[in-house]
Amino acid sequence: MADPGEQTSEPTSAGTGPEALADRRILDRLGALRAADLPVRGGRTMAYVYDSGLPGIEELASAAAAAFAGVNGLDMTAFPSVVSLENDIVGRAARLLGGGPDTAGTFTSGGTESCLLAVLTAREHALRTRGVTEPELVLPETAHAAFHKAAALFGLRTVVVPVDPLSYRVRAGDLAVAVRDRTALVVVSAPSYAHGVIDPVAEAAAEAARRGVLCHVDACIGGWYLGHLRLGSGAPVPPPFDLSVPGVTSLSVDLHKYGYTAKGASVLLFRDAELRRHGWFAHASWPGYPVVNATLQGTKAAGPLAAAWAVLERIGTDGYTALSLRVHRAVTALVAGVGKIDGLRVLGSPDSSLLALAADGPGIDPFVVADEMRGLGWYVQPQPAFAGSPANLHLTVTAAMAGDETVRKLLSALAEAVAAAAARGPAEPGAAVLEAAAALDPAALTPGEAALALTFAGVGEGGELPERMAPVLAVLQALPPALAERLLPELVGRLYRHAGP
Ligand SMILES: *Cc1c(COP(=O)(O)O)cnc(C)c1O
Repeated sequence: MADPGEQTSEPTSAGTGPEALADRRILDRLGALRAADLPVRGGRTMAYVYDSGLPGIEELASAAAAAFAGVNGLDMTAFPSVVSLENDIVGRAARLLGGGPDTAGTFTSGGTESCLLAVLTAREHALRTRGVTEPELVLPETAHAAFHKAAALFGLRTVVVPVDPLSYRVRAGDLAVAVRDRTALVVVSAPSYAHGVIDPVAEAAAEAARRGVLCHVDACIGGWYLGHLRLGSGAPVPPPFDLSVPGVTSLSVDLHKYGYTAKGASVLLFRDAELRRHGWFAHASWPGYPVVNATLQGTKAAGPLAAAWAVLERIGTDGYTALSLRVHRAVTALVAGVGKIDGLRVLGSPDSSLLALAADGPGIDPFVVADEMRGLGWYVQPQPAFAGSPANLHLTVTAAMAGDETVRKLLSALAEAVAAAAARGPAEPGAAVLEAAAALDPAALTPGEAALALTFAGVGEGGELPERMAPVLAVLQALPPALAERLLPELVGRLYRHAGP
């Protein structure tokens, strides 16, 4: 065993001294807290978590992260290891996703940070190269919320373009009409989170390029999956969506999704380093150390970077291709199977590993189906109705659930849940609740009114949510978005109330 002063991966809890006992008790308490969470392994949680199903991946990622736990990615000259790891990862992503010798990239903490940086970079590029002082962000209504967050944080006006009501893909012509001289960036998804469909990337990028505007492909969830799927023999080839498409100037791809790496890992690729540098922040006008930040963070954990590098090395291109093929087969079987369930239908025709399941026929409430599924040991994610998209259930299919047996179990659980939901009937908000909500002005809501509205929606004093969420979601869905956006932080604020002093 190493000297106690040396770096060691041996946990102190391996011993029998008082510290070891204390450590074990602390870890037990953490374990007890985790018991209330959704499972992160096994594929039955069909949103938020990604399980490759391969043995030892999580252990490898944890060991790699532990080895880099103390490293600070803030200063790449002090910790050259982070440069090496990041260049390896970005190189892999660039090779997979149509990059060339000029492609440059950045490792970020996740999809949201990648999207934020894509928008920030475009804003600065538009200002410095075209003098755009009131920049706009053109995006389909199906684009990820992260882009609205970026616009809000970085002061861009959003120009939201509706999508085709049947395919849920944006029409390139509609995007083109929205582009103006002050457009900093056009965004398309490959695929969109809500419906799993790929926007017409080539047409959109060509329109953007024709106007001298940058175009970002949000391949956060689909890039790693689709990029490897198309390498597999017999697999469907998705329409071109990556940096090889003329006019595409940046692309985001999350490793903590279909790269099955530990959370905190995404890559943002740019057509070249000259574009990338517009999003960097440098500061030498203070008495401290000279600052160059490629991301939003200062001190930067290197654990997720090391974990991602290790998992990418372990699974490798062939491994990911096999995982993608496995997921693709499961999605095909699920689409066919859902077609045979009376009362459910797939929205659009999914291009990737995500499904949106809506009610087919009256009397079935997807949110009630979600509650029933929860009781059967499955988490499927409710998506409220929005614009032309009806209320539905989102399913992220990962390799861990993609075996024939698990797919069969999921389909039979869905059938059972739909039958139970039909018997129970939809969760409909009461007329009185809706009437009271209609009278509320979100901009002028007092804390008292907000509290009352939450009580009407079924939320407890301490932010506790009822076992069955369908009634709460039904109210949420019926509220004007501005009111929902006022009440949701109120709800979450109730959860985050510290115990002391
Ligand atoms: C997940 C996702 C994001 C945001 O990524 P986070 O890692 O959750 O921050 C952005 N776009 C799409 C399409 C996504 O699926």
